[in-house]
Amino acid sequence: MEDNNNITGSKFKRVCVFCGSNPGNRQVFSDAAIELGNELVKRKMDLVYGGGSVGLMGLISRNVFNGGCHVLGVIPEALMPIEISGETVGEVRVVADMHERKAEMAREAEAFIALPGGYGTMEEMLEMITWAQLGIHKKPVGLLNVDGYYDCLLQLFDNGVKEGFIKQGARDIVVSARSAEELLTKMEEFTPSHQHVAPHESWKMRQLGEYPSQQNVQ
Ligand code: AMP
Repeated sequence: MEDNNNITGSKFKRVCVFCGSNPGNRQVFSDAAIELGNELVKRKMDLVYGGGSVGLMGLISRNVFNGGCHVLGVIPEALMPIEISGETVGEVRVVADMHERKAEMAREAEAFIALPGGYGTMEEMLEMITWAQLGIHKKPVGLLNVDGYYDCLLQLFDNGVKEGFIKQGARDIVVSARSAEELLTKMEEFTPSHQHVAPHESWKMRQLGEYPSQQNVQ
């Protein structure tokens, strides 16, 4: 039997988690945020996230922080007040706006995971999928499909393939699983099979704040 405590490190040093600023209506979502936090700690992965302690964001950040891994919260100035976002754990980086926040999170992480969430979570995840499709980065994007929360979105992606708007290789960018352990394992094994819209080298990487020849961009 596998001894989980023996897992010493992972392919990814730091993972960006996008998730709801609300906890959702069912306990299963909070449980999943805690489970993902535990899994990151088990694999010695640091966390980058949107800062704040509200909703699922607070649950996962506290869990990873208490587990001894580094937590980086990237928060726009406007969301800084405690009454909006609550008390943040770990390192806090204040940025000017949402665009800067996303670029910073993307640059700092080696992989992206979306837990259930609302428009903000979906938008952040879809932007990282789009950047992978374009060739801006080669980092895996995983969807934690807690209790089938994202089934409809995954069906929409499949429909995009069927109707000729998404290539199969690009559809395969999205790694999904129902448990954190399965998702992280799949992401570690993931090899991109899509054709970049433009060569990776031709992107000026303004979104990631650097050029591909420099470190941090795979
Ligand atoms: P949503 O999935 O719509 O709840 O939005 C999640 C995204 O919006 C995350 O990037 C959050 O950082 C951001 N967000 C929304 N509301 C707040 C808040 N009260 N405090 C911090 N971030 C928030």
